Order: sequence, then C-alpha cells, then structure tokens
Amino acid sequence: MALDLYKYVASIPDYPEKGIIFRDILPLMADGEAFKQATDEITAFARERQVDMVVGPEARGFIVGCPVAYELGVGFAPARKKGKLPRATVSASYQLEYGEATLQMENDSVKPGQRVLVVDDLLATGGTIGATIDMVEQMGGKVVGAAFLIELKELEGRKHLRGIDTKTLMEF
Ligand code: 5GP
Repeated sequence: MALDLYKYVASIPDYPEKGIIFRDILPLMADGEAFKQATDEITAFARERQVDMVVGPEARGFIVGCPVAYELGVGFAPARKKGKLPRATVSASYQLEYGEATLQMENDSVKPGQRVLVVDDLLATGGTIGATIDMVEQMGGKVVGAAFLIELKELEGRKHLRGIDTKTLMEF
C-alpha cells in the first residue's frame, strides 16, 4: 500500500518570516519507507525519460537526487552556491526577493548531449531550478525532466521550466 506522503511534511507557519508557511520535508527523509517511496516514484519518472545524469541544487536537491542517480546507475552533479567549487565553473544567477543569488557547477560535470533530470525538494518561484537548467544547457546537456517532492502552486515556478516534463509528488 502506498503511503500518504503528505503525512511526512511538517508545515511551519511564519518561518523564515511572518506570513510564509515553510514546508519541511526532513520528516519524509527521516522515514525509510516514505523516503524510498518518493525516491522510487522519481526514479520511475526518470527511467521513462532515459535519463543518464541527475543534477540537483544545494542542499536538499542533493538528498533527493543522489538516491535516484544511484538507482538509475548514472552520475550526479551538484549545483552549488557561488564560491564552493575548486575547479572551473559555469554559473547562473536568479532573482531573490531582495537582490540575487548565483549557483555554479563544475564546467565539465555534464557532457554535451547527456539527458539530464534536474531535481530539488521543492519548487517555489522557480528561480533555483531555472538557474540549474541554464547551467546544464550551457554545458550542452539536454534537460529531459524535472522532479520535486513539493510544488507551491501559487508561486508559478513552472514558468521557469519552459515546458520541460515535470513530476511533483505533492502540491500545496
Ligand atoms: P525557488 O527558487 O523555487 O523560489 O525556491 C526553491 C528553493 O528554496 C529550493 O531549493 C528549496 O529547497 C527552498 N525552499 C523555498 N521554500 C521552501 C519551503 O517551504 N520548504 C523547503 N523545504 N524548501 C524551500
């Protein structure tokens, strides 16, 4: 019997600021069955798209993406906050409420023509995943799917996904 994954998300009102409800997915990750079910659903989606590389942004994108890459037997490449990577990088910036943020990837971490799944724990405004997709494309990778545990529908993050096939396990 499939678990109801919504039961493994904690909703914290007024975090990190008043008026925001933070969706905490750490209870899901801490439960072996729930984490496995979420991983299996995303892995099945990736298999259908013949993914041969998984890319996820810091930090919860690593936790969602790595077990999927392991299951598929493909590589994982992290998108990190600026200044963390020792070798040559590609970068992409996106707007925050105040100012902007920059993500970087090692510039040979995706090979031209690779079929890439981008993943993160949660899709909000889409800025983070949009920058991640930009970097994959700068390296010549083809983003063939995007997957998230949670989508916050009213923030319309899908507009940054440019029609890419997208799987979300829960919506708020
Ligand atoms: P976006 O760039 O789509 O606006 O924000 C998504 C990024 O912010 C993700 O990397 C995600 O980890 C983080 N994030 C924003 N809001 C939440 C939230 O309510 N819960 C969690 N778990 N992450 C969030």
